[in-house]
Amino acid sequence: MPYKDQDAAVALVYADQCISAIRNTLYAARLRKDRRPALARLLAAISAAEDIQSRRMSMRMRGRIDDTAAHLDALRRKKYGDFAEVFPKLAERFVRAGESKTSEAFQQFGEVAKNHYDRISEIAHRQRDESAIFFLCQVCGYISAGFAPARCPVCGAIEARFVET
Ligand SMILES: [Zn+2]
Repeated sequence: MPYKDQDAAVALVYADQCISAIRNTLYAARLRKDRRPALARLLAAISAAEDIQSRRMSMRMRGRIDDTAAHLDALRRKKYGDFAEVFPKLAERFVRAGESKTSEAFQQFGEVAKNHYDRISEIAHRQRDESAIFFLCQVCGYISAGFAPARCPVCGAIEARFVET
């Protein structure tokens, strides 16, 4: 997604705060094991503070919540662009750089983007919006409609990794 300068700065701060919050949570757990409870608690508090700050940035990034039809259209266009162009290119770039795990993740993100696009398309055109249940793969984000598959068609995760949403 192309960012304008100010948007890029906000996105960068958001990403940094998210990553730092995760790292501080993990180090807090390690410090609890190492019997440094005060430091563990402080890092946990810093992690919570970073979550608060990243949420504030996310409010700036998410924009206004208004027209649902426009949102669904934008979502379909974005998902289509992701699986058709963005993720396959990233997968290629990372495999060339020798990062096969990240490349595999991007490959799967592309397939999942197509899956999300298909799910939205199935439902958005319905005249009546009957309730439906979905099962989400906790490994890759694939969404199955109505049932949890024995194996995730994108990442191969077993049925137990699917959670009803
Ligand atoms: Zn999966």
